[in-house]
Amino acid sequence: MERKNAWEIWNEKTKKDAFSFCEKYKDFLSVNKTERKFVSASIKTGEKNGFTNIDTLKKLHSGARIYKINKNKQAVFAVIGEKPLTEGVRIIISHIDSPRIDFKPSPVYEDESLAFFKTIYYGGIKKYQWLTIPLSLYGTVILKNGEKKSIEVGDTPDDPVFTITDLLPHLSKDQMKKTIEEGFPGENLNILASSMPDISKDKEKTKSNLLKIFKENYGIEEEDFLSSECQAVPAGKMRDLGIDKSMLIGYGQDDRACAYTSFSAIVSIQKPSETCICILADQEEIGSHGGTSAYSLFFQYFIEEILEKTGYSLSEVKRVYEKSKAISADVASLLDPNYKEVHDLRNAARMGCGICIEKTTGARGKYGSIEPTAEYIANIRKIFDENDIIWQTAEIGKVEQGGGGTVATYLAKFGIDTIDSGIGVLSMHSPYEVTSKADIYSGYLAYRAFYNSL
Ligand code: MN
Ligand code: MN
Repeated sequence: MERKNAWEIWNEKTKKDAFSFCEKYKDFLSVNKTERKFVSASIKTGEKNGFTNIDTLKKLHSGARIYKINKNKQAVFAVIGEKPLTEGVRIIISHIDSPRIDFKPSPVYEDESLAFFKTIYYGGIKKYQWLTIPLSLYGTVILKNGEKKSIEVGDTPDDPVFTITDLLPHLSKDQMKKTIEEGFPGENLNILASSMPDISKDKEKTKSNLLKIFKENYGIEEEDFLSSECQAVPAGKMRDLGIDKSMLIGYGQDDRACAYTSFSAIVSIQKPSETCICILADQEEIGSHGGTSAYSLFFQYFIEEILEKTGYSLSEVKRVYEKSKAISADVASLLDPNYKEVHDLRNAARMGCGICIEKTTGARGKYGSIEPTAEYIANIRKIFDENDIIWQTAEIGKVEQGGGGTVATYLAKFGIDTIDSGIGVLSMHSPYEVTSKADIYSGYLAYRAFYNSL
């Protein structure tokens, strides 16, 4: 089937709107590179737009705008609809964690008078892509007395940055013969952190000096890293890409592209017919096992809380799920013209051709896919078409080339009609992922149409 390219179809005004939407998108993603920062920034924007913490409210009426936070790392926003909750709700779920390099519990060490941080990567990365680039450091450190210290260094002008070094080509004879997996061992992803000694010390002078700086700047001791979340992420802002500025390059677009657009969509809606919910989940890139992931019961409890606060009994929660509709908004794989061999060209998604609908995710023979019904796919098609959304179908790649899953399964298990629909990305999971401004804006328009549809 022929795909429509948004740039060929949109009028000048829509193109301009897409560009100006992406200015806000760029700013937001450039400064919110961790799930904690994404949560606090979205709460701030939410509150400015009339959203209130559900914990402070005893009763909810239609039109109420509410949110709930889970351990500062997951958030959910909702706008109560005109129809009773038992008529179903509209959910969009995305994730706000992205692949990155985390500190190990005891990270600081010295080797040959250089100080380093030991790391363990978070999510599925091609390790070599993360070498030799400037890295920023974001840390939340909790002292034994409960005091919270924040580390943020690398993204303010004049801040220093960090890096992971790589071998020079001149001495890479053996490395080059290895597979990519073996050539870059995970235990070598050590972050170069400092090189000046503390001359008052007899041994581990560089490490001592580094710890002295951390004590002075952030009030933390070496053992405080034990109770910390320290993440190294690519330094710098998201940038326009291409001479026509039609694309974007920057960190964390999987899945903050879908998180930002679905969050913006829920902020934009006023009086929806059905209750609308936007879930921002954490821990997707490590398999959604933890208490802030889509797997946790946080969302279920939120629905139950809404149900009770709108005057229903908990026993009616099944009716809510039965009639609800959901979009699992996670980024999709775009056709990369340099690697056509991994795609079925008849089914691959193209950059600029709008938001993607994925009938099947998973791997090989659909293993792990949620498989939305034909009825529900038709329903989504209708919503998108009636609202002039530029959209296309997508699949991860050729049938036996690999695969991947999304958090869709955690909504589908309730019997909620769920479909995967997200924004296409090139260089997924690399430090600098690439998207099209047309696709970002199509995502926003599609999610808004889903929330507003009758
Ligand atoms: Mn994702
Ligand atoms: Mn991912």
